[in-house]
Amino acid sequence: MNDNDNLIPQPKSRFLRIKCLNCGAEQIVFGCATVEVRCFVCDKQLVQSTGGKARILTKISDVLS
Ligand SMILES: [Zn+2]
Repeated sequence: MNDNDNLIPQPKSRFLRIKCLNCGAEQIVFGCATVEVRCFVCDKQLVQSTGGKARILTKISDVLS
């Protein structure tokens, strides 16, 4: 059992608008995406998959509920 995961409530089933820090392009990603997401303009990695949780590597500019 793992009780160490309750530090930050992670938004579930939300869409996030993220902004690429490299080129400024924005795109919408699923908040609990489990696949890597790359910027469609410059190919910079924006979301890293960490075994079930998405780790956002760039700036979140909005959360769409
Ligand atoms: Zn980019």
